[in-house]
Amino acid sequence: MINSEQLTHYVFAVRTAILANEADIECLDRDIGDGDHYINMKRGCEAIAGLGETLTKLPLVDALNSIGMKLLSTIGGASGPLFASFFIGMSKTLKVNAPDSAMHIAAAFDAGVQAIMQRGKAQAGEKTMLDVLIPVAEQFNSLAAQGKSTQEIAVILKQVASEGLESTRSMLATKGRASGLGERVIGHLDAGAKSCQVMIHAVCDQVL
Ligand code: ADP
Ligand code: MG
Ligand code: MG
Repeated sequence: MINSEQLTHYVFAVRTAILANEADIECLDRDIGDGDHYINMKRGCEAIAGLGETLTKLPLVDALNSIGMKLLSTIGGASGPLFASFFIGMSKTLKVNAPDSAMHIAAAFDAGVQAIMQRGKAQAGEKTMLDVLIPVAEQFNSLAAQGKSTQEIAVILKQVASEGLESTRSMLATKGRASGLGERVIGHLDAGAKSCQVMIHAVCDQVL
C-alpha cells in the first residue's frame, strides 16, 4: 500500500510545505523557544531530500530507518532525536507487519509516536509536537479499523492535526525550552506542533 517511491514523494512534499511555512514556524520558536526550529526542520528536510534516489531503491523499512539515522546526525536540538525515533519506530513495526493495509500503516505511525513519547519522556497536554501526533495516531488507528477510505482518512486527519495544533495555545509547557516560561507561553502555539501539522497536511494532500 505504500512503497519507497511513494515515501520519497511524501518526503519532497513535506520539504516544500516546511519551506512554505518558514515565517510561521520561525516566529513560533522565537516567541517561546530559542528561534532555531525552522532552521532545524529545514536542515532535516534538505538532508533527507539529499538521500533522494537512494531512498527509492531501498525496501521501505530500510528507507525509513535511513531517514531516522540521517535525522539523528543532521537535526540538532530537541527535535532531531525525536523525529529520528519516529522513523526508526515506524521501520521496526513495519518489519513485523508489512504496510499492506491502512491498519498496518496506522499501527506503524502509532509506534513512531510512542517512540517519540519514550525518547522525550512526554505525554499529551505538555505543549509539544505530541499534541498533534497523539490525536492523529489515535484517529488513524480508529479510522483504519473502521475500514474508511484513504481519502476519508486524509480529510479527517488534516482536521485532527489542525485541532491538535490549536489545542497547544492554551497549554502550559512542561517539556522542552518553553517549560521554564510559566504562564507567559499561554496564547502561543508550539513550534514543533506547527511543523507536525504542516507535515501531516502535506502528506494527506498527496492522497486527496
Ligand atoms: P530546541 O528546543 O532544542 O531548540 P527545536 O526548536 O528544533 O529544538 O524543537 C522544539 C520543539 O520540540 C518544541 O516546539 C516541541 O514541540 C518539541 N519538544 C521539545 N521537547 C520535547 C519532548 N520532550 N517531547 C516531545 N516534543 C518535544
Ligand atoms: Mg528551538
Ligand atoms: Mg535549539
